[in-house]
Amino acid sequence: MNFQNYFKISYGLYIVTTQSGNKKGGYIANTLFQVTATPPQFAISCNKDNYTADLIKQSRVFGFSVLSEKANTTLIGNFGYKSGRDFDKFAGVNYFSGKSGIPIITDSSVAWFECKVNQFYEVGTHLIFIGEVVDSGIIEEKGKPLTYSYYREVLKGYSPKNAPTYIEKEKIESSSSDIKQQSEVWQCQLCRYEYESAKGDPISGIPPGTSFPDLPDDWVCPICGADKSLFEKE
Ligand code: FE
Repeated sequence: MNFQNYFKISYGLYIVTTQSGNKKGGYIANTLFQVTATPPQFAISCNKDNYTADLIKQSRVFGFSVLSEKANTTLIGNFGYKSGRDFDKFAGVNYFSGKSGIPIITDSSVAWFECKVNQFYEVGTHLIFIGEVVDSGIIEEKGKPLTYSYYREVLKGYSPKNAPTYIEKEKIESSSSDIKQQSEVWQCQLCRYEYESAKGDPISGIPPGTSFPDLPDDWVCPICGADKSLFEKE
């Protein structure tokens, strides 16, 4: 099967947040869509193992921020590839308290919504929460929202393992018609981003043709912020 077909489905990218008691949670979602207009309701699909899913089950509210095309990839990495169980994702991040007291992130985002959960469904490995909008606002009127295909094609990001749209990388590659350039490839063991020396890292200003060992010592994965020691040569 050619798994490239799955990447023809377009999505946006969002940071979903909630709070239960004093526990804040947040993760990166692409599986989010508006279900009804009257009343306005949104659905999110969230892995059952996700810390935030647990917190939403308790709080029955979630917020989401629509990420900007200019979003900071370290922010995406922290919210997408780390767990709030053992990492404070909100440290150093700008957010405000919504009507229901949950954190709504304003960094790297163009708009935000706050939703009260009306119902949720168990679907195998995931939970679908349906929430009605109780408040919303714009952060950057002219800002372009980040799409999943831009994230994949320009920022070279992949879905993490617990995402509904996760596909094993081997399957993607065996079905890809792209012929990789003659290039040395190093892979981030945290988020699977691949550094290709022939392409460099335009996000961090690394010119094409820079070999991995020649990258500055303080260079970090442009997707998740992992340092060089977490890369392995392919
Ligand atoms: Fe990474």
